[in-house]
Amino acid sequence: MDERAQHRSAMSGGDRKSDARKTVVVTTSWDDGDRLDLKLADLLANRGLRATFYVPTGNLGTASVLTSSRLRELADAGFEIGAHTVTHPVLTDITGDSLVREITECKQVLEQMLGREVPSFAYPKGRANSEIATRVKRAGYRSARGLRMLSLSFDFPPFDMPITVQAFPHRWMGYARNLLRRGAVATLAKSSIAISRSRNWVQLGKTMFDRALREGGSWQRSIRAIRASRGCSSGDRRSDQQKAPRTRSLKS
Ligand SMILES: [Zn+2]
Repeated sequence: MDERAQHRSAMSGGDRKSDARKTVVVTTSWDDGDRLDLKLADLLANRGLRATFYVPTGNLGTASVLTSSRLRELADAGFEIGAHTVTHPVLTDITGDSLVREITECKQVLEQMLGREVPSFAYPKGRANSEIATRVKRAGYRSARGLRMLSLSFDFPPFDMPITVQAFPHRWMGYARNLLRRGAVATLAKSSIAISRSRNWVQLGKTMFDRALREGGSWQRSIRAIRASRGCSSGDRRSDQQKAPRTRSLKS
């Protein structure tokens, strides 16, 4: 979803400083194309929420994965369909032609299937580096979703789009590693208490949402964005061992 475009639209007139303090943008992203995404789409639509569904193309129509016709239904209903490779590999583990194919072929397949541009990409498990981001950009994408968590800012690199909260039972150390790996020390310091006091990701998401509604003034927080993300995790092994059932609804 082109959140920058939403921002530009929201900020197209009036007192920008005043508007900035009031602006809250809610987006959600859902990975891997499970057939239950159709039910999920109904729940989102009933609440007026937008979403991007990132799907790998290699297994569409198999087992519990959406078929191409169902995917078209989602797109026709106004949801964004994003690319998520062909076979869902960790991109930092592959190179050369394999890497190029995983990034480019899914875009071509989806665009042919949907008859529209597929401008965004999500890195499986959020794993990427500068070379991968460059290849994604060269393939014609306009943005890519990473897994930098607890972000409420619109000031982010288009090929490392952050999220606010992921529907995954990370521990405090999981968040700390995620943020420190990306140099987000200030974000960790600011969010540390909220992480510690939250019993689960739902409560943390609500806390972050309240913060988005409440705070204003600094440039970094002049625009509010909260994003929920479900799907491939960042690979926190200890969290994997404690994995809870994935949440298919936005209800707590
Ligand atoms: Zn995934």
